[in-house]
Amino acid sequence: MKTISFFDTKPYDKIFFEQKKEAYGFQINYYKDKLNGRNARLAEESDAVVAFVNDTVDRAAIDKLYALGIRVLAMRCAGYDNVDLEATKGKLKVVRVPAYSPYAVAEHAMGLALLLNRKLHRAYNRTREYNFSLHGLTGFDFRGKTVGVIGTGKIGQAFIDLCLGFGMKVLAYDPYPVAREGVTYADFDTICREAKLISLHCPLTKDNEYMINADSIAKMQDGVIIINTSRGALIQSEALLEGIKQHKIGAAGLDVYEEETDFFYEDRSNRIMQDDVLARLISMPNVVVTSHQAFLTEEALENIAEVTLRNLRDFFDGKPLQNEVK
Ligand code: NAD
Repeated sequence: MKTISFFDTKPYDKIFFEQKKEAYGFQINYYKDKLNGRNARLAEESDAVVAFVNDTVDRAAIDKLYALGIRVLAMRCAGYDNVDLEATKGKLKVVRVPAYSPYAVAEHAMGLALLLNRKLHRAYNRTREYNFSLHGLTGFDFRGKTVGVIGTGKIGQAFIDLCLGFGMKVLAYDPYPVAREGVTYADFDTICREAKLISLHCPLTKDNEYMINADSIAKMQDGVIIINTSRGALIQSEALLEGIKQHKIGAAGLDVYEEETDFFYEDRSNRIMQDDVLARLISMPNVVVTSHQAFLTEEALENIAEVTLRNLRDFFDGKPLQNEVK
């Protein structure tokens, strides 16, 4: 029986990993803390480490895990921008779950877009206080409007399915276009100029950090709705805030935030919010922030547990690693 050290554990993770661990021959030590260079020693006497999106898998953490004899790191997520891959070379194999439910994320993105356009978050609060006024709740039909989809991989394609179902015109940007009826590829500037709704579905890389910034926002249509379920640093948050203050941006739905590591997934309701930009964004009537929850469906959690444990079993059985990050 091999032992896994599992970092940043949440109750909903545990349910599915507990159901499946024995079938794959693992026992699991769960830690609430996020992995970092200081607490990596918790993995002592383990054979593998499982981490998540906001763990700090930097050189210090990797060197410590390697010194403890760990040779494999399983990310229980698709993204791995929080892993210093250079530092893992020759030390740790890194595996991930490339797709667990693109529908979960796409549906959350569309949910945010619909909520913000039709001001459902405000309507919900009003009617709870018997305020039945419709003043300020006017939206627009999605049908016939142009949506800009940035990144047309698994999640982007699932989001496009939903947009086409709504009768939207789809403009897409991706360095690797995929020919598809109803989808026109265009450059990022064209999308900024023409789209009434922009949804981000690309990974965060060195090249596209802050792709939504003061310059790109200036090119956008007045009243544009921006949805980010990908990675926070695709958007320069201060520029977004300024665009909202100037009434340039009609609404923003953020499932991710560039400084989310210190806040997201935790109950911070008893503390003073130290991030002024996040506080100001949350205070806006046309901004909705969710706590990196777009993936959170039963189907996705089950797939995450299944594929993470299978990735680790393949490693220990010396099989080819289908989901290795290189
Ligand atoms: P994917 O690899 O299937 O697709 C990503 C696409 O983005 C690819 O087609 C790629 O060519 C394209 N791309 C790369 N760089 C680009 C750029 N600069 N501009 C435009 N397109 C670019 O990935 P996926 O499964 O569709 O996931 C997309 C992203 O969603 C992930 O990288 C992750 O950051 C995010 N994600 C978020 C959650 C959540 O819960 N919020 C869950 C899963 C994934």
